[in-house]
Parts: sequence; C-alpha cells; structure tokens
Amino acid sequence: MQLTFTHHGYQILRDPHLNKGNAFTSDERIDFGLRGLLPNVVETIDTQIQRVEEQVDQFDKPINKYIYLTQLQDNNQTLFFRTVMKDPAKYFPIVYTPTVGEACEKFGHILRRPRGLYISIADRGQIRDLIRNWPEADVRFAVVSDGERILGLGDLGVCGMGIPIGKLTLYTACAGIHPNQTLPIMLDVGTNNEVFLKDPLYLGLKTPRVRGKEYDDFLEEFVYAMTEAFPKVCIQWEDFAGPNAVSILAKYRDRICTFNDDIQGTAGVAVAGLLAACKYNGRPMTEQRFLFFGAGSAATGISGLLTIMLQEHGLSYEEAKKHCWLFNSGGLVVASRKNLDDYKMVYAHEHPEITDFVEAIETLKPTAIIGASTIGGAFTKEVIEAVARINERPIIFPLSNPNSHSECTAEDAFTLTNGRVLFASGSPFNPVTVGGSTYFPSQGNNVYIFPAVGLAILATEPEHVSDQMFLWAARALASQVTEEMVTRGIIYPPISEIRAVATEIAIDVATRIFDGGLATVDRPADIAKFVKSKMYYPEY
Ligand code: NAD
Repeated sequence: MQLTFTHHGYQILRDPHLNKGNAFTSDERIDFGLRGLLPNVVETIDTQIQRVEEQVDQFDKPINKYIYLTQLQDNNQTLFFRTVMKDPAKYFPIVYTPTVGEACEKFGHILRRPRGLYISIADRGQIRDLIRNWPEADVRFAVVSDGERILGLGDLGVCGMGIPIGKLTLYTACAGIHPNQTLPIMLDVGTNNEVFLKDPLYLGLKTPRVRGKEYDDFLEEFVYAMTEAFPKVCIQWEDFAGPNAVSILAKYRDRICTFNDDIQGTAGVAVAGLLAACKYNGRPMTEQRFLFFGAGSAATGISGLLTIMLQEHGLSYEEAKKHCWLFNSGGLVVASRKNLDDYKMVYAHEHPEITDFVEAIETLKPTAIIGASTIGGAFTKEVIEAVARINERPIIFPLSNPNSHSECTAEDAFTLTNGRVLFASGSPFNPVTVGGSTYFPSQGNNVYIFPAVGLAILATEPEHVSDQMFLWAARALASQVTEEMVTRGIIYPPISEIRAVATEIAIDVATRIFDGGLATVDRPADIAKFVKSKMYYPEY
C-alpha cells in the first residue's frame, strides 16, 4: 500500500500495510505527523531484520518463534516478509509445517489479532455481506478450509485457520503474490473435536459438524458470494477430510477457478520428485512401476497425475494406469476387493489378492514405493531390502507427515541400500553418511508447486485450473534437478532458492497456458518479464 497524505501519524504506525517502524525517513516523519512517535534513529530494513532475528533466536520453542513472527506480520508486513524471505530454510518450518501444526492445536490460546475471514454455518443467507466486510477489492487467492483434517492432526475446527494463513504467507514469500491479494478463510461448520468442544477458549461453533445437504448448500452460497465479490479469485481448498476434498473439487473444478492442494499440489510435487528420480534409475518412463502404500487422497492424486504423465510418454490411459498400484490396510487394491471407493477402483487391477507388502513388492517388482499411509515405520528393513534387491537404484518416497508418521527414516533408506536409494520424504530428515559419502535427503514439500502455479494463474487468469498445469509445474521443477544434485541424494532444488525456482516454474506454466489458449489476458511479447512484473517484493 502506498502512503498518501490522507494517512496520518499514529494510524500509520498501527497499520501493518503502511508501517515501516524506525525506517520512516526524516521527511516522511514530518509529512505524516510521525515526529515524536518514533525513536530518533532512522534505520534500514537490514538493521530492523537484525533486531527481529535477535528476538526470534532468543526463543527456544518454535511455537514462541511462531507467535513472535505472527505479531510482526500484524505489525509490519514488509519487515515480516523480508525476514521470512531472507532465510526460507530457517523460517518456513516456523511459519508453516511443522510448527503451524502446534499453532493450530493451540490457536484459541495464542490468538493475538484475528486475520482473514471466519464464515460460519450460522451466517447462511448473509455470506455476501460478510465477504463485503473484507477491505481489499482485488483478492486473487483465497485459501479455504473447514478445519476437518488439519495436517495429520485431524479435526481442529476453526483452529485450523493457521493453515490458510500459513499457506498464503508462502504464496507471497515464494512467488511474490501481493499479500493484499490473498485472503485466508475458515468455514466454521462445527467440530467433532471433544477437547475443543469443552475448551472455554475454543473460537468456533461448539456444535457437531454439519454434513449433507446443509453443508453443501452452505458451500454453494459461499462459492457464489466469493466469485461475485472477487471475479478473478482462485479458491484453494485446503485440509478438508478425504471424501469432502474429492467431491468439492469434482463439483467446482469446471465451474470456477479452483484447485485442491492436498490432492493436486501433492501430486505435482511427488511427480516432480519421481520424474527427477526416474531419470537416474536407468529405466525409461514407460517401464516404471509405482507401488503406493496407502490409498487415500495423496496416493490416488499422485496416481492420477502419473497416469496423465505416462500418457504423454505414449501409453494409452488403460496402459498408463496399470503402472500404478495401491496397497492399503486391506492389502493390495485389486478388482476382486469389495467395497472400494470409486476413486480407488480406477487402480484396482485384475490380480490375485496379496495382504503382505513385501510379497506385493516381490510379485509386482515396482521401481518405486511411495508411502502415503500415515503409518510410521511401515517401510521396514524387509520392505526396503525387498525393493533394493530388484532395483539397482530403488526409489523410496515415504511421504507421510510428520516425521513420526514417515514410513521410514532417511537413515534407514540410505543405510539399508548402501546409498543406492533415490529418496524423498514428506517430512525433513538430517543428512546421512554411508560408506564415507554424505547424502542430503530431500523433502517433497508442496511449497515447490502451489505458489508457482499460483503465480502462473495470477499472470494468465485462466478460467479453470487443470491437472495438466500441475504436471507442467512438476516437469519444470524436475528439470531444475541436476545429476550432481542426485549424486548427493538431492531430488528437489534447495529451499533456500525457492523464489528463483518458483519463478522459473511459473514462467514455464504461464507459457504453456498461453500456448494452450487457456489465458484470458493478452499474450505478452516477453512472458518471463510479464510474469516477473506481477511479483511483489517487500520493500519500503
Ligand atoms: P488419507 O487418510 O486420505 O489416506 C491414508 C491411506 O492410508 C488410506 O488409504 C488408508 O487406508 C491407508 N492406510 C491406513 N493404515 C494403513 C495400513 N496399516 N496399511 C496400509 N495402508 C494403510 O491421507 P492422505 O491425505 O492421503 O495423506 C497420507 C499421508 O501423506 C499423510 O501423512 C500426509 O501428511 C502425507 N502427505 C504428504 C504430502 C507431501 O509430502 N507433500 C502431501 C500430502 C499428504
């Protein structure tokens, strides 16, 4: 936001969009009635960051660092984003996972200043009016949750608001989406969390979750009101429970500009990792076979994108989906299994039933095993050794979060395969040394994908978001991984480079959106320059 002479003194210091703290110049202090309201010294933003870092580093507990940074965001938006962007590897785990999980669990207890919109089922019939209370007119990204499946933590009701807030912080930090164009939204439909229902500091409706037609009608009114208020908005559904996540995406994907990061973003980042790994396991893409441990939204989402990707390599749809196999608590997902959800049936191939995962590996001979089960330690020594016996470079991706739920540790994967594994995980792991070589395990973090796709959407304004866009993003991400990186165990570019990585992906995806005639804005002569011109950089 630009300072103008309508803004005045004290009010400016209380507005996070305008506040520069001690960085206001002498002239600004005179012009805007700030003299005397600040200590005399005029500071650079770098000096201010030094003070912020000193304070962040004083806290031992990540949750206290989170609270401090949240207050900084409420106090001085520019300084907050500059700090976070200065060292993404240090700050992302505080403003987003894993710390945001604890922040959500304690949300009702640590709240300082509410951020975003809270729309409850009790507001039915008036959602339009509520949305009108939002002060910004050009909202482009709304991250929306109903709080039912927050990370691996389950139903946190409105306390899940930490997730939309955190995700939108990453939109800005990684891809330069202007903070004023972002809007976190919590849909309060009650909670089934018994602890919260009894907690006097819980911030939401203390009623059981509403489901069925009432829920659907509420969502419908919300979507209608959002697109009416913000015609260029892209709605990102976040942390809805599995069945709702799938059905909401199916219902709205062809009607409005929308996507689900848990399904499509996850698929994008996982496929990027698999593309990078498959380049180095000595087999052409059409000879890869992917066996998933877990058959929920992550596994089926990734399988769906792999199926599209394999078709680009010349396979028919029927052939392509046969390269993806799912294994869940009932064993291998095969056609003869009863009561399978429709979205799993797609990958239920004709095959005898197998209930032991090692036997499934020995029978199907996958080139990659991918964990999306939330079952920590499920990739046992026997599992890792089985996949390592049949592959010179086995691909092992334990994607479940947090670390305690990871199907195996990086240490196990690298050690048991003597460093041969091509590894990526959902949660971060420390470097591993095997036989004198040190490997740096990569984290398949969705942050590599959704902000970049978001920037491409912002620049090109397509009417809809397709799965194909996530595949383009995956290919653009994988192309930034070099052989030298893979030799050191690295499957994704370093998070410290995220802004440059995301910018490259966004330019690539935007170019393909223009090429495909999907943009609703004119094609610029220089797409890279055009995309970059849309990016916000936090400076005074
Ligand atoms: P989900 O609940 O939809 O699916 C979990 C699946 O695991 C279900 O199919 C279930 O049947 C299966 N399962 C449970 N117990 C099992 C067992 N004992 N043996 C075999 N299968 C079993 O969850 P989801 O949304 O698909 O997420 C799964 C995991 O993936 C979570 O831990 C999530 O954090 C993680 N994830 C990671 C990323 C990422 O790394 N970028 C993104 C999204 C999700």
